[in-house]
Amino acid sequence: MAEASRTSEARRDAVFGRWVIFSPARSRRPTDLKSHAPANPSPGAPKPSCPFCLGRESECAPEIFRMPAPPDASPWRIRVIENLYPALRRDAEPPAPEEQAAEVLPGERAVVGFGFHDVVIETPRHDVRLWDLDADGVADVLLAYARRVRQLMEHPAVKYVQVFKNHGASAGASMAHSHSQMLGTPFVPPSVITRLNCMKEVFKSLGKCSLCEFQSNDILVSETQNFSAVVPFAASNPFEIWIIPLRHHPFFHEIDKDMALDLGSLLRTMLQKLSKQLNDPPFNFMIHSSPFEVSSSPLPYTHWFLQIVPQLSVTGGFEIGSGCYINPVFPEDAAKILRELHCSI
Ligand code: AMP
Ligand code: ZN
Ligand code: ZN
Repeated sequence: MAEASRTSEARRDAVFGRWVIFSPARSRRPTDLKSHAPANPSPGAPKPSCPFCLGRESECAPEIFRMPAPPDASPWRIRVIENLYPALRRDAEPPAPEEQAAEVLPGERAVVGFGFHDVVIETPRHDVRLWDLDADGVADVLLAYARRVRQLMEHPAVKYVQVFKNHGASAGASMAHSHSQMLGTPFVPPSVITRLNCMKEVFKSLGKCSLCEFQSNDILVSETQNFSAVVPFAASNPFEIWIIPLRHHPFFHEIDKDMALDLGSLLRTMLQKLSKQLNDPPFNFMIHSSPFEVSSSPLPYTHWFLQIVPQLSVTGGFEIGSGCYINPVFPEDAAKILRELHCSI
């Protein structure tokens, strides 16, 4: 069927509970959709002023840990450092437990901006993107995230750690050198609460975890031993991808080496496909895990996953006003295109 003749459809997803309007009439063919603002217009040009490059470590905020490279290679492969301009401050007084408990009370509140804001430098080289690394290299980045999350969860005032990557200026990146970030917050962020409440409701009424039951061949892009990559049923953005562990598990930070290698290989392939199909688009990825407090009793509805969102359009008034998204590309069409796209790397 020609896309233009397909009618619009509204779908609600079973994870965030968000409505998305699929309106193919608002775009040309899905295969024509490309980024007009490629994230890296001049890759390969090392910036003499980049503090994340090898040799400029002294221009960075303090290092937390590094992953060493093999002997005779560069002194490090990955560095986890403090953010020089942190949104939340590790040296601020953490909120007292009763203050944190009061956080759930209604109405306005203000607490000191305590928290941790770290940067993960994924490679010493300015001209290497995350998906240019081999699967081992991407796995090591994932293991660095997990190790730092485990360190942060030791702090009694840290309730959640959001791991994320901004790639390209219109996806929020201020630095071109390949990196990601994490913020440890003294509260559980609202979208995490909404997600867990939505998944809990699904579990209560249907008796199943929203993500264990997610699998469908039409939206599948690729599958490994431990993970599925899908374009979600109600993708909020064209060519959005979720990488979902096949085994129900609430916490990303408990990932082991084998799982990290499997995920690293799949994440790399998905980023390569997006880069090839959409002309190196700006994108964000986020790891959606569970608040630490649920650790003592893993719940049947909390299931971590990684969401990749290519940023091909700007958020407009309808999205801001309604919290709904308009997506011109049906997930089944995007999944088919990505499934059939071969990356030779
Ligand atoms: P992004 O803005 O997503 O590209 O993330 C880059 C982050 O690196 C920002 O949050 C900056 O505050 C942080 N940053 C910039 N320069 C430095 C530096 N020299 N040392 C540590 N963090 C930095
Ligand atoms: Zn650099
Ligand atoms: Zn599950």
